[in-house]
Amino acid sequence: MNIALIAHDSKKELMVQFCIAYSGILSQHNICATGTTGKLVAEATGLRIFRFLSGEQGGDQQIAARIACNEIDLLLFLRDPLTMKAGEPDEANLIRLCDVHSIPVATNIATAEALIHALEKGDLDWRNIVNPKR
Ligand code: PGA
Repeated sequence: MNIALIAHDSKKELMVQFCIAYSGILSQHNICATGTTGKLVAEATGLRIFRFLSGEQGGDQQIAARIACNEIDLLLFLRDPLTMKAGEPDEANLIRLCDVHSIPVATNIATAEALIHALEKGDLDWRNIVNPKR
């Protein structure tokens, strides 16, 4: 499956720790990420990660475009709810597009944990019907 990772600055270390903990599961899938998130996770885990542009350069929107085409099967987006960011309207669009295509999405670590376990158990295998080529 195609899994996309995005983490705001204050959540990047949490994303790295999460990906270290679940690298065995993540390594069985295609991982993509916004630029800085992908760099940090790749360095810490050795996972192969396709890196889009950094968020501030439009990486979030590149991922949104793939979501709009229903090409992402799981979005793990650890966002900072306390700090207003310049790109925030784009983030709302990212979540909206996940809802358009019923793409599982986590915006905090608790849901990310639940979804990664669901992925491991096969609960998200229906995405293989949506995207049979993957
Ligand atoms: P980044 O982008 O991984 O390149 O920092 C994520 C974000 O929008 O904060």
